[in-house]
Parts: sequence; C-alpha cells; structure tokens
Amino acid sequence: MILTATDENLRKAADILIRGGTVAFPTETVYGLGASALDAEAVARVFEAKERPRFDPLIVHIASKESITALAEKIDPGASLLADALWPGPLTIVVPKRRIVPDIVTAGLCTVALRMPAHPVARKLIAMAGIPVAAPSANPFGFLSPTTARHVEKQLGGRVDLILDGGPCSVGVESTIIAFTGNVPRLLRPGGLPLEDIEAIIGPVERGGGETVEAPGQLSGHYSPRTPVVIIDGVYGAAGENAAYLAFRSAPEKGTFRMVEVLSPTGNLREAAARFFSALHKLDESGADVILAETLPEEGLGRALMDRLRRASQKSP
Ligand code: AMP
Ligand code: MG
Repeated sequence: MILTATDENLRKAADILIRGGTVAFPTETVYGLGASALDAEAVARVFEAKERPRFDPLIVHIASKESITALAEKIDPGASLLADALWPGPLTIVVPKRRIVPDIVTAGLCTVALRMPAHPVARKLIAMAGIPVAAPSANPFGFLSPTTARHVEKQLGGRVDLILDGGPCSVGVESTIIAFTGNVPRLLRPGGLPLEDIEAIIGPVERGGGETVEAPGQLSGHYSPRTPVVIIDGVYGAAGENAAYLAFRSAPEKGTFRMVEVLSPTGNLREAAARFFSALHKLDESGADVILAETLPEEGLGRALMDRLRRASQKSP
C-alpha cells in the first residue's frame, strides 16, 4: 500500500515500525526498506522481503546525534566532529556497537554503521517512531534500486507493510562510509560526500580498507567465527569430541556437546535468521574446537543462512 507522506500517514508508518513491521521510505539516495534496528525479527523480515541470497550489514538510520550514544559502545572524537559538521547527509560512520543492536543488523560484526539521512520524510519517520531504523535499499535482489514509491510497489508490492511516498529521490549519492574502529579513521566506501570535506575536519583518512576481498568469497567486513565450522547433513552423534552444535529445530538426542544452540523450535526460518548470528557468536566463544552446523532448508531466508554457513566452513584452517 502506498500512502503519501502526510503527518497522519507518517504516524501510521511509525507505529508499524514500532510494532516490528516494515516500511519503505524515501531517503536522499534511494528508497529504503526499514525496520526497527532494535528488533531482530523485524530485521529478518527485511532480508526476507529482499530475497537476498546473503546477509549484509545494514546501515542504521537515526534522527538525532544523541542516538549515537545509545547505539555505540565508544565514540571516537573524530566521529563526533564529523556528525556535528556533516549530518544530516550522505555520511555513514562505523563505530563499535552496543549489545542493544541485534547481531542480525550488523551480520554478526561487533561494529555498527550509523547515518542521519537528509531527507525530511526519513527523519520525521525515524523521530516519530523514536527508534533507530535499519534499512537497505527497497529492492529485491537483482533489481534496480528504487527512486520512486511506484518502483518499490512494483518490486516489493505485497512484501512490505507500507510504502511512504515522498516523491522521487535525488539519485546517485550513496553515502560515504568511514570506520572509526581502529587507530585511524578508514574509508570503507567512497560516496556522495567527498573525502576532502571529511579530511578538512578530522585530518588524514586511511584509504582502501574494509571492502577489499581478502580471500575468495570473503569480504573483510564480514563476520565469520574463528572456530572451524563443519556443516552436517542429518543428526550427528559423535561423542568425545570438543564440539559445539548449531541445531535448526531441536538439540541432538545423542552425543555430548560443549554447547548447543537451537535456532527455531517451530522450524521458522525468520526466527532462525533472527537468532543465527548471536547463536554463532555464543558457540564461537564456547571454547569448542569445532562447530557442527545442521543443514537448513534452502528456501526463503534459509538460502542466506546456508550461504553464511558455507562461507564459514570454507574459511576453516
Ligand atoms: P547501502 O545500504 O547500499 O548503502 O550499503 C550499506 C553498506 O554499508 C554496505 O556496503 C555494507 O557492507 C556497509 N556496512 C554496514 N555496516 C557495516 C559495518 N558494521 N562495518 C562495515 N561496513 C558496514
Ligand atoms: Mg542495495
């Protein structure tokens, strides 16, 4: 359903976000598909609607600078300076995340990407909802990024709770992404905001970091457990091994495991996706030598989950 972005309809959209639904809304770059960044299942719905065969960390959109403190564990003074000078606008800062941000938002990374968009509809919506909004572009995998509400309706129609029409977006400016996670600020993606403007405020920024491919199929900006992952078909009951176990619907009946995580007792892939990254984190930290992971049904979100498991298992030393 498309609704014009009047105050009344913005209120409706904000309530949908608060209740864990999805809303497509305009930003100055493209239309985004938003969900509460504090609600793992709501964010799983976004991935479900996009039918993306993999999980990517999402940018969390905020309406005021104060929200940084709620979401970031540590704020580099440089990040704060940039936010003061260049927000709202096409600038995203990556900072260490607080636990309140679910792992599915960051695809398991311990950092979170934050941006205050310049589009008035986006900002009003986020402010009215009173929650940060995680949003990738509102297009299914393999489709063009939408710059009008009608594009979104054509591409995602029945798969989003509401589409807010705020007119066409001024296309072509993806946000510039700067990471404040190491000793020096690092450019992860060049974008609409020139690096010179950023360096004029915080000094030199390291180039060419984050998104370079370090190993086949492995972006350095993506989380993978350190513990080797072995995908198993069917139930595995080996005893005497120091293994952790990632189950889909129920814990294995046989075998002794260091730790077992069950993704969804009812076999719901959305619930499984919402728990997936935090489950992997726990198993990774359990002290096991290996993580045995059950095969998941390769439909809907199951495809993206299996993609992540396969990457993790290929990476093993
Ligand atoms: P888009 O939504 O198309 O503007 O793309 C979001 C971009 O932000 C992707 O390239 C992500 O890889 C990147 N991103 C989001 N969160 C993080 C993070 N925590 N660390 C590094 N990159 C991130
Ligand atoms: Mg996109």
